[in-house]
Amino acid sequence: MSSSCASVRHDVIEPATEGILASVLETSSEEVDWVIQRCRKAQRGWAAAPPAERASVIHAVADAIDQQVEQLAVIEARNVGMPIRDARGSMASVAATFRYYAAGPERLLGNTIPVAGGVDMTFREPIGVVGLITPWNFPLAIASWKVAPGLAAGNGVVLKPSELTPLTAIELVRIAEEAGLPEGLFGLVLGAGSTVGRQLVDHPLVGKLAFTGSTAVGREVGARAAGMIKRVTLELGGKSASIIFADADLDRAASGLAGGAFGNTGQDCCARSRVFVERSALGGFLDRMAVIVDGLKVGSPLSEATEMGPLISAKQRERVERYVEGSTIVHQGSAPTGAGFWYPATILYPVDEEEPAAREEIFGPVVSVFAFDDEDEVIRRVNDTPYGLSGSVWSRDGGRALRMARAIESGALAINSYNSVRLSTPFGGFKQSGMGRELGPDALEAYTEVKNVFYSTEV
Ligand code: NDP
Repeated sequence: MSSSCASVRHDVIEPATEGILASVLETSSEEVDWVIQRCRKAQRGWAAAPPAERASVIHAVADAIDQQVEQLAVIEARNVGMPIRDARGSMASVAATFRYYAAGPERLLGNTIPVAGGVDMTFREPIGVVGLITPWNFPLAIASWKVAPGLAAGNGVVLKPSELTPLTAIELVRIAEEAGLPEGLFGLVLGAGSTVGRQLVDHPLVGKLAFTGSTAVGREVGARAAGMIKRVTLELGGKSASIIFADADLDRAASGLAGGAFGNTGQDCCARSRVFVERSALGGFLDRMAVIVDGLKVGSPLSEATEMGPLISAKQRERVERYVEGSTIVHQGSAPTGAGFWYPATILYPVDEEEPAAREEIFGPVVSVFAFDDEDEVIRRVNDTPYGLSGSVWSRDGGRALRMARAIESGALAINSYNSVRLSTPFGGFKQSGMGRELGPDALEAYTEVKNVFYSTEV
């Protein structure tokens, strides 16, 4: 059976032009079931294959992605509206993620535990079939954070990408199978979350779910998974803060905001959408931010010069507009007019900390700026959010920076940097920003079950 049996087509829109980029067939309910069953069959053979063999296939997938970075980057740039330079980096990171986890099959170690009457040992067993549900903001990178460790741990995976951005996922399945991944081990289902996504969540053969997206849908996925006692990893929203002390390198802190707050047009769960500046540095910092916003090159994702593209959809632009309406804009950049879901980089100041723009995840190029006077006060205000994904502290006082980093309730903190994601380190949220960790060594174990085996030595 192939996805050509499905009868419903869905147009994929190019955010920079509003034109139709592609038309994909949605996976029917019968096909979803077939993809999952086929994945389970392929998984049994995969789990039984020698670890070195599995490692070498995953290496081959990484090499094949590396060879196709440019083609993938162009598709991702057009489908997401992501600047081509960023898309290239993102696709190279997909290859690097597969390469990092290629070591996994040979490094999943168990323990031997001293017990009476025999030998006790633990094994890291695959879960079976893992359902992966991913969003539209970094489609292939986020998918690779799940696909690569999932496969490395001996599972089969079934991916449901966002309806808005399925194109690079389709390519990845092709690339992986051409590179030697057993057919069906990496299944793909296409369609809406409310139908295809839900079926994946509820399917009895799917033993674990790894989801990235909004907190609202994450809550639903988590609740449904709990009903069937499925394993679950949730990577959800954020409202991360940047805390800038007056003794920081203010130029670096401001120029980094181009990526740290406006990167991917602010559609980044780690975006530093709240900026807390020590009062004595506020005026100078707002001036620096205005210069950064004015200097941002906004335009076609395919132009090498572009630093910020459009938003993903008309719906997303309306959402951003709704948040900004009624707030005080202290500075706004420019954006193209005409076709495309453009929105300019926007700085809000002063901002009431209770207003939705200051509290909720906007997912657009909008930052709220606040002044603060001392450490305890800013810690309290930064932590006054249901989220806890990421954040930055800028200061030349190392002791203070570390003190702050320890006090902020979030899964990742960067000191004098806006970098939140490194493939070899754990990534995930405190509080309502999620459950579990992706990337790094933790993610590999999250795709396994621990089995305990006791071997009696009594005669
Ligand atoms: P969603 O959480 O709705 O979508 C994420 C993924 O979940 C998509 O593949 C979606 O499918 C799928 N999905 C939706 N409903 C269900 C369901 N009931 N069961 C299973 N899967 C489902 O995010 P949106 O795309 O609507 O974005 C809305 C907001 O979420 C953003 O503005 C932003 O605030 C936040 N967000 C956060 C992200 C993050 O990285 N933390 C990423 C994306 C969004 P489909 O969309 O194809 O129907």
